[in-house]
Amino acid sequence: MSAFSDQLLRLREEGNLRSLPEIVHEGKHVLKDGRRMLNLSSNDYLGLASEPEMMRRFMSDAAESCRNGVPEDLLLSSSSSRLLTGTFGVHSLVEQALCRLSGREAALVFSSGYHMNEGILPAIADSSSVILADKLVHASIIDGMRLSQAKSVRYRHQDMSQLDALAAKYSKECERTIIVTESIFSMDGDVSDLRTLVEIKKRYPGVMLYVDEAHAAGVCGKTGMGVAEEQCVINDIDFLCGTFGKALASAGAYLLCDKEIREFLVNRMRPLIFTTAIPPFNMLWTLKVLESLADMRERRERLAGNAAKIRSAVRVCGLECPSGSHIVPIMAGESHRAIALAEKMQKSGFYLLPVRPPTVPEGTSRLRVSLTAAVTGEETDRFIATLKELL
Ligand SMILES: *Cc1c(COP(=O)(O)O)cnc(C)c1O
Repeated sequence: MSAFSDQLLRLREEGNLRSLPEIVHEGKHVLKDGRRMLNLSSNDYLGLASEPEMMRRFMSDAAESCRNGVPEDLLLSSSSSRLLTGTFGVHSLVEQALCRLSGREAALVFSSGYHMNEGILPAIADSSSVILADKLVHASIIDGMRLSQAKSVRYRHQDMSQLDALAAKYSKECERTIIVTESIFSMDGDVSDLRTLVEIKKRYPGVMLYVDEAHAAGVCGKTGMGVAEEQCVINDIDFLCGTFGKALASAGAYLLCDKEIREFLVNRMRPLIFTTAIPPFNMLWTLKVLESLADMRERRERLAGNAAKIRSAVRVCGLECPSGSHIVPIMAGESHRAIALAEKMQKSGFYLLPVRPPTVPEGTSRLRVSLTAAVTGEETDRFIATLKELL
């Protein structure tokens, strides 16, 4: 047997073999194997992709504009890297909109959040730097640490006193210390205390703060600028990152920073320099969403209300629930248990998927409820009733 088939067999035995689901999307539902289920596994947090009225209007306006040719901001390819001919007016407009919305002086957009995290860290951290990262940061951040020349140290999840001690130690030994974390964690749904992180950063010399708001951008804050807006620290975070592929129903990612850092990355960040820029058409849609973001308060409130109901129901069932957001883990423990529970939920019409190692630590397999604003209060209640029955 080849090494590959050996490993595949082992994954199957452990209940950790993965495959790409074949599903059909129908608004907020998915169709799979003849079943129609409410999609509780997508990151379309504001419901903009599954209730595509805004998208329909955008595309019909676009079709209208293409009657006599394709204007540059509707092209489906940028045909080049941002540094060559791939920067279109609309890329700059998106960056300007981000600056306007956040009040920060510079913004830079990337092809994806993965590229962003995998590229920024190696660019900014050299061998005289140390990266202090939360134990549960996303794989893209881990890969960025692996690619960088810096020493990397992981601190216990959300353990601010351990982080403080590490920052004290390394700020003496290293020229640059970079604290890296997420504002809402993808698998536990817990919300970071950014104010304390900012205090720690300011307490020691040469410390910078890097926060990934992938799950909070669009969802949190009065105007949708994330947990940083909610906690009033937008200006205190050196690298404030977000993605367009989740709540913003588009593709790509962004960094808010100061002008010098932006210029440095344009010169040094390989996944920015050596990849084809996001297509203008997609950027134009991102711009549209950004311009409407402040007005989506009702969606944010509906999402927060339904999420709170689900969190308390999970706790009533006796399960540990670290979440403080619209991402709610339902802890199952072993992978086989998570698979069985997911299957039962799917039979009852709710499309939940098991999340297993290596995405989460061994023994913490779970279902990850990823709630969206497209889900109504009535659907939330029905979901809770089913959950209580099956747990
Ligand atoms: C989804 C995610 C990313 C990756 O973003 P993409 O645009 O999907 O590549 C990065 N960081 C975190 C925390 C994420 O959840």
